[in-house]
Amino acid sequence: MPIHLDRVTESAVPGPGASVLRTRALRKDYGSGAGLVRAVGGVDLDVAAGEAIGVMGPSGCGKSTLLHLLGGLDQPTAGEVWVNGRRTDRLSQRALARMRQSEVGFVFQAFHLMGELTAQENVELPSLLAGLPPEEARRRALSLLGQVGLADRADHLPTALSGGERQRVAIARALANRPAIVLADEPTGNLDSAATGEVLRLLEALHRSGLTLVVVTHDARVAAIADRVVSMRDGAFDGGSGGTESRGGPLSRPTGIGS
Ligand code: ADP
Ligand code: MG
Repeated sequence: MPIHLDRVTESAVPGPGASVLRTRALRKDYGSGAGLVRAVGGVDLDVAAGEAIGVMGPSGCGKSTLLHLLGGLDQPTAGEVWVNGRRTDRLSQRALARMRQSEVGFVFQAFHLMGELTAQENVELPSLLAGLPPEEARRRALSLLGQVGLADRADHLPTALSGGERQRVAIARALANRPAIVLADEPTGNLDSAATGEVLRLLEALHRSGLTLVVVTHDARVAAIADRVVSMRDGAFDGGSGGTESRGGPLSRPTGIGS
């Protein structure tokens, strides 16, 4: 699979070392009384610009909830979330929607493509919703599909694409509005081994091109593309707020993006 990536996020990323994502004492409870579930309890996280973080942990430990809180898909019970230097945990639903549109790209396990739209239309949609002129949205979508190696699939409906191709379309869509950060929830969870390899190579290439990435996963192969892996259990990071395992420093960052 050829991957040719521009530095897609350059304009959105703050200076080196700046925190693109930050949480403090982040908490999310569901239910109440005897039925209370603390899905996330006391998470402190800092993700630097250009960093790729893997979050690993057993099913039900709060990974998806954390990702939703980070990206403003859900609002915390308590604690702080900062995205690209701006505090987001107290924003209204409408302001959160705007924030998501410009700052965050999401990739989901089940792709969540619009079934009645072609690959190109799926990738255009976020730009159109953000008010980009249709011609510009189309140019951007075609460019992104080229970058994920799917230029020749632009007119295909999702049902005519393999799982790996669908996820690459979803990744192109996540990049449509040049987000500061991409949040991926089990992005290879529905894929076979070959397609997992394709998606991993793509995520790694994006990371090397400067994208800030948080990937939630069960899969050690996925975590291996991260600079840092955080282990999560019962809604918290293992070892408290510092609970990260160094992977021996950031990956080298070659300037050229290969395949
Ligand atoms: P993971 O992604 O690690 O499998 P989740 O974040 O989906 O974990 O879930 C963490 C905990 O929160 C689980 O106990 C789950 O049942 C609970 N939970 C998640 N979403 C909801 C919800 N909308 N209502 C009630 N409980 C929820
Ligand atoms: Mg989950």
